[in-house]
Amino acid sequence: MASCLFCEAPLRHTFVDLGMSPLCESFLTAEQLNQMERFYPLHVWVCERCFLVQVEEYVRPEGIFTEYAYFSSYSDSWLAHARAYVEMITGRLALGAGSRVVELGSNDGYLLQFFVARGIPVLGVDPAKNVAEKAIARGVPTITKLFGRETARELVADGAQADLICGANVLAQVPDVKDFVAGIKLLLKPGGVVTIEFPHLVRLMAENQFDTIYHEHFSYFSFLTAERIFAAHGLTLYDVDELPTHGGSLRIYARHVDDASTPMTERARSLRARELSAGLDRLETYASFTEQIHETKRRLLEFLIGARRRGKHIAGYGAPGKGNTLLNYCGIRTDFLEYTVDRNPYKHGRFLPGTHIPIHPPERIEATRPDYVLILPWNLKDEIMEQCAYIRSWGGQFVVPIPDVKVYP
Ligand SMILES: [Zn+2]
Repeated sequence: MASCLFCEAPLRHTFVDLGMSPLCESFLTAEQLNQMERFYPLHVWVCERCFLVQVEEYVRPEGIFTEYAYFSSYSDSWLAHARAYVEMITGRLALGAGSRVVELGSNDGYLLQFFVARGIPVLGVDPAKNVAEKAIARGVPTITKLFGRETARELVADGAQADLICGANVLAQVPDVKDFVAGIKLLLKPGGVVTIEFPHLVRLMAENQFDTIYHEHFSYFSFLTAERIFAAHGLTLYDVDELPTHGGSLRIYARHVDDASTPMTERARSLRARELSAGLDRLETYASFTEQIHETKRRLLEFLIGARRRGKHIAGYGAPGKGNTLLNYCGIRTDFLEYTVDRNPYKHGRFLPGTHIPIHPPERIEATRPDYVLILPWNLKDEIMEQCAYIRSWGGQFVVPIPDVKVYP
């Protein structure tokens, strides 16, 4: 029996079982379509002792992260979010030329570039070589390593302790969350601040966001579980922002436990109280998610079957990780979705893992004029509907699958 990533209690309680699924970032070339494809169980558990929601580790992280197809800079709204964060935190912590910022999971340097532009020394840490090369090319110093105690010790030995350690959408992707947070503790200067953003489990549950579950995401956090894990490593969560990104995220602020300069804010207290009253510290609360997801699948298939019966053509927009979970779990292949498009040239001419739906450049939509465009990265729906507003000229409509099937005329 597998045991909890954090507290090591045996994992006995299913949160949701999404069946067998390929790695969501392993896009296929045309030659690979005729080969065998690896599928792994996508079974999510909730720990009965600490309530950490987690996927059992079936795939070694080296297999996942050495080449990563996701480049943060391809999303305009994500870039704007990064810029706004840098402006806010630079002011709040009074960062300057004498400070040091380290970002964990720094991807292609999409965020650190804004610190560099302000003359603030930075270092990116990311295990994926191809994205790190992109960061270095744009002037963001980056090391290609999986972050943990060992990397933290090397950096500290080089005199590189940080005033600010930040990370967005990296905590879930850490296979050994204890080693990761222990590394943060070592790397943080006395008086330093940590900010980490992650999708909020409460929103995932309330809004059927089961497609944000994939093998690359090992764990899913509430404020309560994050607080518990950081506290176990001598770090205190003292503040939190609730953000609209990725369907609803938290940005937690942490400091050393013995740093009394920043007391816990009212915002952090009230979020903790809300999670407790929502029952996130009780196993029963997690038990109904499976049925909720079965119903979400039925409703999406109902829409697609109806549309195809009426002879409508459906194309996808985007080829994000979450799209692959959704399409594989629901069994949606080219019988429903003729193709999808993406702005990332790395994906053009490739195929979605498992479903083998072809990926084209966005211009394909104008050329084929589909009746419906299914937006797979639904967290970016406003941005995409604006970019692709031209589909209305032939009566095309947008469809957003999560939290519920919604058609936008
Ligand atoms: Zn546990």
